Amino acid sequence: MNSPDAPNSGSSGDAAPPHFPGLPGFPGLPGTAGGAPQAAADTPVCSAKGCRADAVWVLAWNNPKLHTPERRKTWLACEEHREHLSNFLGLRGFLKDVVTLEEWEKGAAGRPADG
Ligand SMILES: [Zn+2]
Repeated sequence: MNSPDAPNSGSSGDAAPPHFPGLPGFPGLPGTAGGAPQAAADTPVCSAKGCRADAVWVLAWNNPKLHTPERRKTWLACEEHREHLSNFLGLRGFLKDVVTLEEWEKGAAGRPADG
């Protein structure tokens, strides 16, 4: 039963996260299928490539070519990458909102009308 020649399923899974998850159709970026974040940890981490810092900010965005106006995609960012990621979205006119993760989670339960 015990085959010594069993293929080695590389246990050192250290795959780098995509640059920017969930942005199909961006020129110059590899097409990420679906854009679902890698469900690995409970603690939300920054969406920036290679950054493992805890997310502090939520960037809410919408691509009008892909999404209905009320749809919101979200990126997570640490303090360091908030500006970088929000600039990326802002330059394309996609950025809708930047709130702290705490505020976002509060709002997700029952967001008041006044944003
Ligand atoms: Zn970061």
